[in-house]
Amino acid sequence: MSKQTFVIAGASLAGAKAAQELREHGFDGRVVLIGAEPERPYERPPLTKDYLRGESEREKVYVHAADYYEQHEIELITGTTVTAIDPDASTVKLDGGRELSYDRLLLTTGSEPRPIPVPGAGLDGIYYMRSLADCDVLRRRLDDSGRVAVVGAGWIGSEFAASARQLGLEVTVIDPLVLPNERIFGAEVGGFYRDVHVEHGVEMLLGQGVEAFEGDGAVALVRTSAGKVVECDFAVVGIGITPRTGLAADAGLAVDAGLAVDNGVVTNERLETSAPGIFAAGDLASAWHPFYEQHIRVEHWANALNQGPAAARAMLGEDVSYDRIPYFFSDQYDVGMEYSGYAASWDEVVFRGEREGGEFIAFWLSDGRVVGGMNVNVWDVNQHVQDLIRSRRPVDVAALTDPDTPLDSLVAEPTA
Ligand SMILES: Cc1cc2nc3c(=O)[nH]c(=O)nc-3n(C[C@H](O)[C@H](O)[C@H](O)COP(=O)(O)OP(=O)(O)OC[C@H]3O[C@@H](n4cnc5c(N)ncnc54)[C@H](O)[C@@H]3O)c2cc1C
Repeated sequence: MSKQTFVIAGASLAGAKAAQELREHGFDGRVVLIGAEPERPYERPPLTKDYLRGESEREKVYVHAADYYEQHEIELITGTTVTAIDPDASTVKLDGGRELSYDRLLLTTGSEPRPIPVPGAGLDGIYYMRSLADCDVLRRRLDDSGRVAVVGAGWIGSEFAASARQLGLEVTVIDPLVLPNERIFGAEVGGFYRDVHVEHGVEMLLGQGVEAFEGDGAVALVRTSAGKVVECDFAVVGIGITPRTGLAADAGLAVDAGLAVDNGVVTNERLETSAPGIFAAGDLASAWHPFYEQHIRVEHWANALNQGPAAARAMLGEDVSYDRIPYFFSDQYDVGMEYSGYAASWDEVVFRGEREGGEFIAFWLSDGRVVGGMNVNVWDVNQHVQDLIRSRRPVDVAALTDPDTPLDSLVAEPTA
């Protein structure tokens, strides 16, 4: 019998980890990993942190050593885009006209920055931050000191602002929300992050959007909706991302889960799309989540890291039910944090530890149960936070907020 071919479209973190899992689970057929970028798979978090600041080597961003793919007989094809899928014929087309047959296909095409739709957005000196190539350009800009306008106080904008400030640039952050990430985390945690930036000398222009970029060929100023004029040498825009669903949608695969427009490629809990034999993982996938009993799309590193391998096991016919609690981390200046949960709404946010001291755990509560938790400069507690969420047990707020009560004691079954 001829060996099977598993194709992975998107040489990303999720794609590379899926290829690794296939080999580690004994798959001895062809594994073809195709990526549009010229690079072998790499991780993006360092691109707003140590790598951007020139504090870590390029080699450290890659998912695997350069010879890994050859050693494991993974056919890595870089600089090549998958342009079409034919689910009936089980083939994919690559740019340049090549066609490949597959027995199973995994889509890990990720997401791309949302462009900002304002006058002057096409001027030189306005950058987005997604790829290693974007980062290399920005690294050079950060060498020149000067003044940068950061549009968007989400995680990408905030981390870029922190790194630029650490390198001594003058930084202005502009965001229509009154507080950073206010919609996701509420006023208390949003206020904490605003203050962190202000304390480090960032000018925070909040509650105002960008009306226009202006300049003669290259951006020289940003005009805000509150009438402020921000002079700058360059600008970085981080106003969110859009999943790259085009390839799947063109092939007739279900996208959107009925939740919102363009909300990802719909999969079941084993990460299989509406087309049998085609799977999706990472930023792209709107996957049925058995714990939350809804489709969710998670735009974080840990999701790509874990969902890729889960999809690989599903491709091999193993029993898979991807039910990890969403998790992400962020580092800004000397403030490191981890967040777990998926909380669209909550009743209150309570704190263990002092926000002023910069070491605390914030808990989002709904109906007296923990639905999200963020540990800031407090470590080795995230698993307990996840256990609390998963337990769905009402918590005693006094004990939850008391630093002397071990968190794991709140997770344990109450004694009869
Ligand atoms: C600068 C930056 C910093 C981040 N920091 C953090 C952090 O601190 N913490 C955290 O939790 N998360 C962070 N994230 C988010 C995290 O990196 C992403 O969730 C993760 O990269 C998603 O991985 P993915 O495998 O889904 O796909 P992606 O990383 O989006 O990669 C998809 C790849 O597929 C390729 N591709 C697309 N279409 C095709 C096609 N048709 N054919 C072939 N190839 C194609 C693309 O070129 C790309 O290389 C950060 C993201 C960025 C951009």
